[in-house]
Amino acid sequence: MNKPAFDRFHRYEPLTEYLRGFEEAHPTLCSLASIGRSHEGREIWAMTVTNTATGPAEDKPAFWVDANIHATEVAPSSCALYLLAKVLEGYGSDPQITRLLDTRTLYVVPRANPDGAELFLDERHRRIRSSTRPYPFAERQDGLHPSDIDRDGRVLTMRVQDPNGPWKAHPADARLLVARDPAGGDVGPFYRLLPEGEIQNYDGVTIKLARAYEGLDLNRNFPFEWAPEAEQVGAGPYPTSEPEVRAMTQFIVDHPNITGAITFHTMSGVYLRPYGTRPDDTFNANDLWAMQDIGRAITRMTGYPAVSVFHDFRYHPKETIKGVFDDWLYEHLGVFAWTCELWSPQRAAGIDMKKPGGGYRFTEWSRQHDVEDDLKLLAWQDAALGGRGFVNWYPFPHPQLGAVELGGWNAELIWRNPPPEFLEAEIAPHADVVIWHALISPLLNVRAFTAERLGERVWQVRAVVENSGWLPTSVTTRAAEKKLVTPLELSLGVPEGARLRGGEARVMAGQLDGRAQKWVMGVYGGSDASTDRTRAEWTVEAAPGTTLTLEAKHPRAGRVRASLTLGA
Ligand SMILES: [Zn+2]
Repeated sequence: MNKPAFDRFHRYEPLTEYLRGFEEAHPTLCSLASIGRSHEGREIWAMTVTNTATGPAEDKPAFWVDANIHATEVAPSSCALYLLAKVLEGYGSDPQITRLLDTRTLYVVPRANPDGAELFLDERHRRIRSSTRPYPFAERQDGLHPSDIDRDGRVLTMRVQDPNGPWKAHPADARLLVARDPAGGDVGPFYRLLPEGEIQNYDGVTIKLARAYEGLDLNRNFPFEWAPEAEQVGAGPYPTSEPEVRAMTQFIVDHPNITGAITFHTMSGVYLRPYGTRPDDTFNANDLWAMQDIGRAITRMTGYPAVSVFHDFRYHPKETIKGVFDDWLYEHLGVFAWTCELWSPQRAAGIDMKKPGGGYRFTEWSRQHDVEDDLKLLAWQDAALGGRGFVNWYPFPHPQLGAVELGGWNAELIWRNPPPEFLEAEIAPHADVVIWHALISPLLNVRAFTAERLGERVWQVRAVVENSGWLPTSVTTRAAEKKLVTPLELSLGVPEGARLRGGEARVMAGQLDGRAQKWVMGVYGGSDASTDRTRAEWTVEAAPGTTLTLEAKHPRAGRVRASLTLGA
């Protein structure tokens, strides 16, 4: 089998071949299907992973993984491939992975937005936010559009000398540009910085930055708190209007066994959790505590902090991020969902992203930070990448602006994704997060299915069913409170010739707790009431030797069966 390499990024065709290769090599453990077509008509692949010998995928609690919904965030696709390779090759030898595929299901979408990724990875080298569908304008708007004008495979920064420009060279490292003195009086040359590109309908004087032609952001197109263009740029005309988002949401609601999810993005080196739009004091307290517990485990496994988008990842103090994937899964479906932002060049360079008073400055850092941070980044990329992370300024005759220089941060290499030589080490721990997160799901178990003989042909039948998982069967308190999940059902099967005399053949048994939400061991005694367990009883009239069946099913905790031969 053709195994994926983790020292480079993969275009759509090889990615598809790797997925087909997994399916050919492990036919009982995985199956590949398309969940829909992209705007340009590419299949959006989803790999279903479980050991089919222990039951079909839909009868097991499941975990969702998607990647690369944002066009240039291609390292996440490699992360999804890494996860697939790890669980498929580890089955049978790694006990945790074996237990995972015997009892749970993974749904993995390695490339949610294949059109945008292809535009970035093929010879066009275009960097757009998400979908290739033009939005909100059908025509390209006037102004500067980023592009690779010198055709060297990189879209860099243009440095234009301008006596009124806001930037000047740093005295210690002239590659770096720093802000001029606000009071003026400093010595030039001064520069204006613009994205590498060409200006549509340039008037020879004024330069405006055009609204992106492909202006959608697919991770603003999900239903929860979706908002129109004026309030949320790129959100699309209505929730799930875009085929990629439509395919994902349809698959997820069609698979009620999904108990949790991670959507993989770049960059920042952080796990983000709901809400994007609300503070933590509006969060259901049980669910917040559970997410904080999960977050601590994630931090132990990856070194990534786990934070609220509202508190630690907003781009503007007066604005929130709306219509995103993880909020939708928590709020509308009542399952725990995370956005993992892979890779942090700042961390690689040894920059502390914590705020002095607590919290993090992931987004703030983009607006304002000390120039010492830039010097650290420059020194890091000089040492670790031989200077490929920052292109020293070189002259270029711009067809409209005249003599300019191209250079600056090589964002494609070091910001948008980990450089290829850092890729495998960066993505590897996140496969462990997925495995662990899938294994904390609820899981039904038949603890007992017994009969006591009351008379010649009369039997008292008892079933005891438990949730052996860490999370409750509802997964979240929100799901139970808002009836986003249906209850446990216990069904007794009585064959021809026997008769149910007492009890209902189908018993609705509510939700069962798990082991989550336990307070630390206290000094006043334990409180572990058996709320993880339920009992049902029936009176059955049947001849000895009759076989009864029990089916216990819950949309999020799986479906299990047992049988019992009377008098045996
Ligand atoms: Zn992203």
